[in-house]
Amino acid sequence: MIVVMRHDATPDEVEAIRARLIDDGFRVHLSPGVERTIIGVIGENTERVYGVSAMAGVEQVVPVHRPYKLVSREFHPDPSVIHVGPVAVGGNRVVVMAGPCAVESREQVMEAAGVVNGLGLSVLRGGAYKPRTSPYSFQGMGVEGLKILAEARERYGLMIVTEAVDHESLRQVAEWADIVQVGARNMQNFELLKAVGQTAKPVLLKRGMSATIDEWLQAAEYIVAHGNPNVILCERGIRTYESKTRNTLDLSAIPVVKELSHLPIVIDPSHSTGHWNWVAPMARAAVAAGADGLIIEAHPDPSRALSDGPQSLNLPHLEELVHSLRTLAEVVGRTL
Ligand code: PEP
Ligand code: MN
Repeated sequence: MIVVMRHDATPDEVEAIRARLIDDGFRVHLSPGVERTIIGVIGENTERVYGVSAMAGVEQVVPVHRPYKLVSREFHPDPSVIHVGPVAVGGNRVVVMAGPCAVESREQVMEAAGVVNGLGLSVLRGGAYKPRTSPYSFQGMGVEGLKILAEARERYGLMIVTEAVDHESLRQVAEWADIVQVGARNMQNFELLKAVGQTAKPVLLKRGMSATIDEWLQAAEYIVAHGNPNVILCERGIRTYESKTRNTLDLSAIPVVKELSHLPIVIDPSHSTGHWNWVAPMARAAVAAGADGLIIEAHPDPSRALSDGPQSLNLPHLEELVHSLRTLAEVVGRTL
């Protein structure tokens, strides 16, 4: 249920509704908007919420039949802007996050970070904990990798996005990084989602490779319901019968998510296509379709990458892509 307050409701009236709902045993999330305050109500027997229609300051009580509430447009009609240090995700600027799939060495990260910074981008990606399909593949450098990323942040003033795969790595990632990535394979790891909800760091929530948009938004709801409203959604391709690409990039997720939810959405053209040569066209298509950002794998020497080399751009190709994205962003009324 959602309680929509009148535009002229006083803070005391909002507080009276909040106190009454808590007293009735509900969990309550306030969303103070520019126009009016909206109160999200979660709990059992929510028909009881209709009672507050009689209280001062209430415009209407609206039932929400979707399986998610706090991430829905009904609860928060304006798009959310997620602040990561000086970077705003969900505003007019298209935020491009770039860097290697995995942190492999100090030299590799510094070289990539230097180029990312030189291109005027503000977020560096790189995995220190790698959820690999094969147990024999490189599993990541762990905390040592996080320290390298943190050094790149100090040196270049970049924000860091990196993946947490379990509770222990989450503790470390929340300490060293700026954005906690929850990977496709963990999108329905509900205990991890709850724990991420209890951190104060912005979260990049990737879509599970077999997840519907509703399931993905419910995963986001877990994080927000547990206390962390700073969720950025990331479409990274889904499994279909097509086998030429690594996954099928669902670009239609951009307008669909924007209609259903207020959360920003970024596109990962690297894991979706699986091939460096297809990354640039899909990155441009994503910007044209209204994505709030991109996350792109780039490596100083993709031929020697310990993970996802075939889909990684080399650094000159990253540069070429960023230049073309800037031209395109201007055409669609955005900056980059
Ligand atoms: C990654 O970003 O390196 C990664 C493992 O992505 P995904 O979870 O989308 O496969
Ligand atoms: Mn990867």
